[in-house]
Amino acid sequence: MFAIGHFALGYLAGKGSSSLLKVKINIPLLLVLAVLPDIDLFLQQFDDLLFMHRGATHSIVTFTVLMIPFFIKYRKQAIPYYAVLLSHSLIGDFFTGGIELFWPVSQTWVGNFLVEIGSLTDVAVEFGLFAVSTALMFKTGDLQRLLKPKKYNWILLIALGAVVGPMLARTRGFESSLPLLLMPPSIFWAVLLSSSLLIGLGKKLSNIFGAGGKSEAPANNSNSARQSITITYAYVILVSL
Ligand SMILES: [Zn+2]
Repeated sequence: MFAIGHFALGYLAGKGSSSLLKVKINIPLLLVLAVLPDIDLFLQQFDDLLFMHRGATHSIVTFTVLMIPFFIKYRKQAIPYYAVLLSHSLIGDFFTGGIELFWPVSQTWVGNFLVEIGSLTDVAVEFGLFAVSTALMFKTGDLQRLLKPKKYNWILLIALGAVVGPMLARTRGFESSLPLLLMPPSIFWAVLLSSSLLIGLGKKLSNIFGAGGKSEAPANNSNSARQSITITYAYVILVSL
């Protein structure tokens, strides 16, 4: 499954469980965790056996062990993030080729091998999930909140990498490249995530150059965001010159 489907499943699992448990969930962190298991695609350049795709980083044993300190510290607040990780392996990749679900206890490949990644069925499911989850994100205001400058929004750089990687692979004709029909939702996410990152960068720059003064009233937030974007674009233009 591509990032489009993983974002959607992660959002539905994370938001759904956080609503049930009546706890808050950080959306940028949710989006990053939704695609984080695929970091093996990057790590395999260091050790292709340990970080074989859909191996160690997709195992529910790995997820559980890594989450233990967070369960101890944050208790039920950590559960929605665990649900996001589980959605990646148990739903997203389980039905599109399988994973080493119990690595290192067992290296048996578990899952459904009938839906090929990039096939019409896979694309249709990912597109449908994208439509449902983004509509929900808009309704709850989570989508709009991504465009507000927040302290930890820079972590979205990882999520952006997961979207842009397969898009670039397509231009190079790689086997794991993005299907054409998933290009529009990928462009949507690439624009949304890069805008969020630029707004955050703009806010930081405006703080450095004194344009977003600390005494600014909350009512001026939209002005501040506009100012941040202007400063960011001015900065990008200056750097590119
Ligand atoms: Zn995966």
